[in-house]
Amino acid sequence: MILSLWQVISMFDLDLEGVAEIIKKEGYRCVALQLPEGLKDSGVDISSRLAGDTGCEVIILGDPCYGACDLADSEALDLGCDALFHFGHSRIFKNARLPVHYIKVKIPRDPLPLLKDNLDKLPMRIGLVTTIQHIHLLDEIVSFLKESGRTARIGEAKGRVAYRGQVLGCSFSSAKDIADKVDAFLYIGTGNFHPLGVALSTGRPVYALDLERGELRDMSDVSDPILRRRFAAITRAQDARSFGIIIGEKQGQRRLSLAKKVKGMLEEKGRSGYFIALREITPDVLLPFRGLDAFVNTACPRITIDDTARYKRPVLTPIELGIVLGLREWDDYAMDEIV
Ligand code: SF4
Repeated sequence: MILSLWQVISMFDLDLEGVAEIIKKEGYRCVALQLPEGLKDSGVDISSRLAGDTGCEVIILGDPCYGACDLADSEALDLGCDALFHFGHSRIFKNARLPVHYIKVKIPRDPLPLLKDNLDKLPMRIGLVTTIQHIHLLDEIVSFLKESGRTARIGEAKGRVAYRGQVLGCSFSSAKDIADKVDAFLYIGTGNFHPLGVALSTGRPVYALDLERGELRDMSDVSDPILRRRFAAITRAQDARSFGIIIGEKQGQRRLSLAKKVKGMLEEKGRSGYFIALREITPDVLLPFRGLDAFVNTACPRITIDDTARYKRPVLTPIELGIVLGLREWDDYAMDEIV
């Protein structure tokens, strides 16, 4: 089935009138739009509607955007824009080079029928986690679980996480906050990306209530094979002598002091490390560095965890390098997170 642009846009709860009001109130003459990949399809419609409603010039920033870690404030400023509208992610940075407005993209769905159907599979003490798109559902889910006789908890947000119960692909502070007080986590949303991270970060059982597929999944079926692959990558890197140390160029993925620490760890153990700064990290961009035996990635941790099968040579997190170098045991395996 082919959806029209207006059908795609209506799948999301998007307050474009609110955006137009901000533009008029602030007197912006040119604004930039930064859209997540799932909303790019609707970019032309959003642009045309905002330009029509306000008379403002609108520039869609077309490069891929996977998180607020990749805030395009500099690009918007260089293009002569007065402000940046960043859709679909919550604020990570306190300061930016021009006014930035974070626009929530809600996905309107009723989680309760699916939850009711699967209630008997859940334990008594439940920790709730979700993404920004579904954060508005948490309160009614807490009420429902309490009425059903269960304990439902929501952890506090810390670091780069903006809302209670929210998780990012690289930060699970709200889950860790309550991990020792729950029997399992219930993730509300879609896909495996975020609930997998909760499972790896907390080591607790995680169930994903997938509102798109209409099913409840036990995430151990996904996290156990990933852990086996991580173990294999660590084993393969044992004999590596020279490592590429990847530094992320996106501002929210740039961990320069960690990269320097990694170099020190390598040299102390008689191995060598070479800094490589990258914006997009893919198997193809690493291919030409043939003299290197393995890589340590200090940029987005999920590139290492989720994409491992795509890389010919081992790509490790800094924590995994510690295991390779004998500084940490496999039993102390921990998810690399950005706080
Ligand atoms: S660093 Fe990775 S996981 Fe974290 S917000 Fe950016 S893209 Fe998402």
